[in-house]
Amino acid sequence: MLREIVLNGRKLTYELTRKQVKNINLRLHTDCSIHVSAPPRTAVASIERFMQENADRILDAMEKVGKREALRQQKELFEDGGTVFYLGAPYRLRVFEGTRNEVRLGSGELLLTVKDPSDPILRKKTVEKWLSARSKEQITELCHSIYPYFQARGIPFPLLRFRFMKSRWGSCNTAKGILTFHNRLAEKPVECIAYVVAHEFTHFLHADHSKRFYGELEKMMPDWKIRKKLLNE
Ligand SMILES: [Zn+2]
Repeated sequence: MLREIVLNGRKLTYELTRKQVKNINLRLHTDCSIHVSAPPRTAVASIERFMQENADRILDAMEKVGKREALRQQKELFEDGGTVFYLGAPYRLRVFEGTRNEVRLGSGELLLTVKDPSDPILRKKTVEKWLSARSKEQITELCHSIYPYFQARGIPFPLLRFRFMKSRWGSCNTAKGILTFHNRLAEKPVECIAYVVAHEFTHFLHADHSKRFYGELEKMMPDWKIRKKLLNE
């Protein structure tokens, strides 16, 4: 249920969900919407009193999330002077007008040439096309270097696919022998890309995320947790 509340003089809406939970829980989504879950019998007055008591914390968090989201959107505009990450390192983006759409890597700079520098979609598409090609190169190489470990276990070399994925970095279709990877993995440090490759390959041994799966992954890549954390920063 969507409700309204005034916190420190600001009128806000929040989504109230009744759940079998012990306490009142507050969550903020990336679009700054507030989600509250509360036990079935807790009165709305108690919930809102709890929100009033935490008003500063809620508003601070909203500001932080809003700023982070604005920064993320800004980054996706690929404007001249902005930052693009390649293999975990920041590069200053320079945008030029030219007869072709292409990207070149300079020292500390990514040189983007497009037919129309004022077109944000063209800029994004051109950079993403370049990142896709780099991702494909990196991942293919990493797959070949990790493969002997799996070849020894009788796993055939998988079919590699690349696409833009919504909420994951990779996936494994064990039945069809297909590994799919995110086209923008090349933005991440190589050790993180190697983690995604190792993770997906390990699914050929264990399809789920069981203890045995992580045991196997740990044998091959003892520091996988650090790499995973870095990947999602
Ligand atoms: Zn997995």
